[in-house]
Amino acid sequence: MTDDAQGWGYQLEQPWPPPETMGMITRKGRNFHRDENCSGYQQGVRNSIKRGHKLSPQETVTAQQAKHRGKGCCSVCW
Ligand SMILES: [Zn+2]
Repeated sequence: MTDDAQGWGYQLEQPWPPPETMGMITRKGRNFHRDENCSGYQQGVRNSIKRGHKLSPQETVTAQQAKHRGKGCCSVCW
């Protein structure tokens, strides 16, 4: 374990908006989005429909909640 894990070496992730920022997630989705108009989110929806998957219901949460639930930050939205 080096200092890199907590320092500048750990910069591959998209930076998150402030913790209290509202956005949306879906239960199965990987990313925290600003809203459902996100082109990244829409792409995911189209792929799900194409594969015959059911869409997960959307949930409105803060950035902090999304993070705690293991979501990533959408690079399109933020
Ligand atoms: Zn997005």
